[in-house]
Amino acid sequence: MSWGPVLVLGGTAEARELADLLDSAGAQVISSLAGRVPDPRLPAGEVRIGGFGGVSGLAEFLAGRGIRQVVDATHPFAAGITANAVAACARVGTPLIVLRRPAWLAGPGDDWRPLPDLASAATTLTNFGDDAAVFLTTGRQGAGAFRECPQRFWLRAVRAPEPGELPRRCDVVLDRGPFDLEAERDFLRSNGIDVLVSKNSGGPMTAPKLVAARELGLPVLMIERPPLPPGVTTVPDVAAALAALG
Ligand code: NAP
Repeated sequence: MSWGPVLVLGGTAEARELADLLDSAGAQVISSLAGRVPDPRLPAGEVRIGGFGGVSGLAEFLAGRGIRQVVDATHPFAAGITANAVAACARVGTPLIVLRRPAWLAGPGDDWRPLPDLASAATTLTNFGDDAAVFLTTGRQGAGAFRECPQRFWLRAVRAPEPGELPRRCDVVLDRGPFDLEAERDFLRSNGIDVLVSKNSGGPMTAPKLVAARELGLPVLMIERPPLPPGVTTVPDVAAALAALG
C-alpha cells in the first residue's frame, strides 16, 4: 500500500466515506474535523478534532506527522480551511487533492434566485413581505444575517444557533440529513412555507427539499458557492479522489 499517511480534512459524508475506504484498504488515514458539531459521525481510522491554528499550524501538523498527501473533502462553503490547506500544502510541498461535490443545477420548473451571500438573501426576503414563511436551511453559522428580518422563520440546523443570532420569529428544527422527499414535501406544506433559502451545497443528502420546492412551485433563494483559491482544481467524488491518490 503506497498511500499514507493521508490527511482527510472532513466534515462531510464524502470525507467519511473516503476515510473508511482508505482505512479498509490498509492505508494510514487521519481525519480532521473542526469540532463544530456535537456527537459527529466518525470515520474509521484516526480522528483529530479542532482547528490547527491557521496555515502555520496546519503546515506544522503536515511536517510533524509526515503526511504524504492531503485530501480537502470539506464542505464547499468552508472556504477558510480550503484556503489554509492550499497555502500550507504549498509551504511544505505536500500534494493536495480538493474533493468538491458538483453544485446543484436548476432544471425545468425550478424557480431559483441565485445570490452571492446570506446578507443578500436577507435583503431579498423583503420582496416576499413581512409575513412570508421562510424555510432557512443554510445552517447554524451565519444565521445572524437574518436576525433583523421580520418574516416568520423555520431554521433547520444540526445544532441551534445562539439565541441572539435568531430572527425574531423563528422555530428551530434540529435535524441532520439525509432528508427524504416525502418528509420535505410535508414540511413545506404543513408549515405553509412561501420561500426556501439554501446554500448550493450539492449532493444527494439535502437535495429533496429542492425537488419538493419545485413540485410546490416555491422560489428558492440559492446562495452561490464561495470561489476556490486561484489555480485550484477539484475532483468531483470519492472515486475520483481515490484515483488521484494513486
Ligand atoms: P471554515 O470557515 O472554512 O474554517 C474556519 C476554521 O475552522 C479554519 O481556519 C480551521 O481553523 C477550522 N476548521 C475548519 N474545518 C476544519 C477541519 N476539517 N479540521 C480542522 N479544522 C477545521 O469552516 P466552516 O465553514 O466553519 O466549517 C467547519 C467544518 O464544518 C468544515 O470541516 C466543513 O467541512 C464542515 N461543514 C461546513 C458547512 C458550511 O456550510 N460551512 C456545512 C457542513 C459541514 P484553524 O485555522 O485553527 O485551523
